[in-house]
Amino acid sequence: MQTCTSPTEKRRIVIAGGGYAGTTLAVRLAKRIKPSDDVEILLIEPNPCQQALSELDLVAVGPPRPEFCELWLPTIFKDLPVTVCYNRVHSVLPDEHAVLVGPREGPHEKVTYWRLVLATGAVAFVPPVPGLKEHATTMWSVHDAQELQQRIEQQFRIAAKTVDRDARAQALSFAVIGGGATGIEIVGTMAQMLPKRMRDHGLDPVDLHVHLVEGRPDILYDLPENLRRKAKARLARLGVELHLGSMVSSVDDTGITLESGARVPAAVVVFCGGAKADPDATTWGLAADPSGRLMVDESLHASGHPDIYAIGDVAAFRDPETKRTLPMLAQFAIREAEHTADNLLRELRGETPQPFRPHMHGEFVSIGPSYGVGWAFRFHLSGLPAIVMKRFTYAMYWYEVGGIRTAFKRLREMLAMQR
Ligand SMILES: Cc1cc2nc3c(=O)[nH]c(=O)nc-3n(C[C@H](O)[C@H](O)[C@H](O)COP(=O)(O)OP(=O)(O)OC[C@H]3O[C@@H](n4cnc5c(N)ncnc54)[C@H](O)[C@@H]3O)c2cc1C
Repeated sequence: MQTCTSPTEKRRIVIAGGGYAGTTLAVRLAKRIKPSDDVEILLIEPNPCQQALSELDLVAVGPPRPEFCELWLPTIFKDLPVTVCYNRVHSVLPDEHAVLVGPREGPHEKVTYWRLVLATGAVAFVPPVPGLKEHATTMWSVHDAQELQQRIEQQFRIAAKTVDRDARAQALSFAVIGGGATGIEIVGTMAQMLPKRMRDHGLDPVDLHVHLVEGRPDILYDLPENLRRKAKARLARLGVELHLGSMVSSVDDTGITLESGARVPAAVVVFCGGAKADPDATTWGLAADPSGRLMVDESLHASGHPDIYAIGDVAAFRDPETKRTLPMLAQFAIREAEHTADNLLRELRGETPQPFRPHMHGEFVSIGPSYGVGWAFRFHLSGLPAIVMKRFTYAMYWYEVGGIRTAFKRLREMLAMQR
């Protein structure tokens, strides 16, 4: 069995999960520790390629490409004092200060820790609506996006061979369920990019139908009203047909039936209706909230475990100001990671961890690759400035973890995907 660790006298910080939270934490900690801290950093993550979650819409609708990495972890950690173990945490043994590492079916290596940080993220959540699981694609991983890409290609092939006009329009009808940020981003990118892709395949975009289905009466509830209006106007300009205010009652291979009785024809259905915390985390004997996110105290310690932190989507941090649990957003995952890195440095130097105080600096949603809506520091933006701000926040993340070369490389890749 390949092992993650070799014997050490140093204090070992184990980080489970190398997504936005785990990677930010490992990089920040590695850049700030001193040899006198006498510490070893071990990051456990199964995938050397960090999922490009922020670009799933471009992956799904753009032309096929072989690899989509937010970050390639071996490059990020090449010159940093971090041992990366490309494996998964199978279970946590808090009483033994250890985790078991290895595939589900075993064998497992026992790795002890001085401090453990759980950052294992979230997975797509599919409610038990008849036909939804069987007929819809979710949108929470590069694998999901590639599956959608294949389904789009398949529909292009079917449409190309179909003479009957109505049957061709049915083959080229796409529906996205969910009017939150993920659903709006994917539906906007479909409506903007699919016409070009269809022309490249010799198909007439006049046959394209893109639908958005949302059970509530409006979309993008996290954004102010004026931005929601702009978002709807943009979707209308792109030709997206909105079906708001009625829940989905069933899905089959020709479309969606709503509780209102209305029918939305769709050959391809994408479900962007929600996410839930890594379900494995609830099997680790730590307290979780009813939605399955790990309960944490004000310093992001797992409840009742001062030597275990939980951060990012897997953790349920309750904002003391708003009294609400933070939403699953990369910006909070990154802020929690930075704060936890600083707390670990405090602990290494004999100081007390400090409480986390979250601040929402802004939020941007793209509606197609060249338009966005959102706000930052009280300013409301729409159109190109919003999309520039959105891309800027990604670039900041790439710069923080990978430096200037990584930020430029990733920006170039992202712009190339939009063509
Ligand atoms: C399509 C889409 C678009 C989004 N757009 C935005 C946006 O524009 N802005 C924004 O703020 N947020 C956005 N989000 C949300 C954002 O991506 C998440 O909030 C963020 O990924 C959370 O970071 P994390 O580190 O907690 O989890 P992740 O980034 O999901 O990382 C979790 C990591 O843990 C690893 N892992 C899982 N189980 C184990 C295990 N047992 N052992 C070891 N490792 C494990 C996984 O492989 C993964 O690498 C988007 C999400 C999606 C799906």
